[in-house]
Amino acid sequence: MKTGIVYHDDYLKHRQVEHHPECPERLETTLEYFLKTGLTDQVEMINPGPAAVEALTRVHSKEHVEYIRCRSSQGKGKFSVIDSDTYICSETYDVALLAAGGVIAAGEAVWKGELDNCFALVRPPGHHASMNQATGFCYFDNTAVMIKHLQANQGLKKVFLFDWDAHAPNGTMGTFYSDPSVLNMSIHQDPRSFYPGHGFVDQIGEGAGKGYTINFPVPGGSGDADFIHFIDEFVMARVKKFKPDMIAVSAGQDSHRDDLISQLQVTDNGYALMTRRFMELADELCGGKLVLALEGGYNLKTLPITHHTITSTLLGVNDPEPAGGEVLDSTRQMMSELRNKLKASTIWPEAPEYGESADLEEGDRRCTPP
Ligand SMILES: [Zn+2]
Repeated sequence: MKTGIVYHDDYLKHRQVEHHPECPERLETTLEYFLKTGLTDQVEMINPGPAAVEALTRVHSKEHVEYIRCRSSQGKGKFSVIDSDTYICSETYDVALLAAGGVIAAGEAVWKGELDNCFALVRPPGHHASMNQATGFCYFDNTAVMIKHLQANQGLKKVFLFDWDAHAPNGTMGTFYSDPSVLNMSIHQDPRSFYPGHGFVDQIGEGAGKGYTINFPVPGGSGDADFIHFIDEFVMARVKKFKPDMIAVSAGQDSHRDDLISQLQVTDNGYALMTRRFMELADELCGGKLVLALEGGYNLKTLPITHHTITSTLLGVNDPEPAGGEVLDSTRQMMSELRNKLKASTIWPEAPEYGESADLEEGDRRCTPP
């Protein structure tokens, strides 16, 4: 396997206030561990350039991009406040451009076949940033920018995007909510009592995009068995029907059992299993084209090891064990609720059993809003 890692030392220059979980050490410790274990010798290291403003404005308003640039330029070594957990320093704008450029570089290398797969280790993260709003440690939606860049310039058509971060990707969801070219699925901690208060099971897209957004909220305590149950019993069959040209993962490791920001219980083996599932799907459907982009993940002791496990799996040198633990009743109930919500949509007529083929003609995938 030819696996790439995107990284740039300048990713360490963006800072939030002191003791903020989204800190440069997240990447610093990861790179140190990769160097110590020799993993950097087994992958292709990609040093990206910044995204063009034109790439950002396919997702964000010009006013938003200019706002972040302006607030950043006024920093003069001090922090200014966007919201209660998102700040801007003098370097934020340039580093945020470099983060979006990093995911673009990963996407281009995979799309052109220069790499089999790639993990973009970028910061700041992106999946909470919406057209007009920086929030939740995010300024520009790196992965959404990459997808729209490849669609505009490289002939990419359909993308399956999966988000395993503990938080629902409210920014990304909004961007693609009426877009049937992106099948956007997320499993995350129940947003009734967890940031960002979006990502409910009945949020399934609208207009032509109805049925192409899938949210699978799970309570704290959910872990590997629940994540893999969702993927095996729901995701796999639907992605096969969708037939993407590329698979992207918004890879946030704050769903890890040792991450204090959520109550989810995913283990390193769980991330490896999910990575392996998406590699297999990509091999079957789109020539192995798989791009991972870093979102959350804040335990500085475990995060480097988790990143190492994910990367080793991408390289094909780590074989995950079967998922440990039992599937929770709440997960089975949520599966049933999701199925019922989608039955009301014309877009995903249920096969008699999950996993059975019910190939749809192209026209069947176009939704007629009720
Ligand atoms: Zn998160």
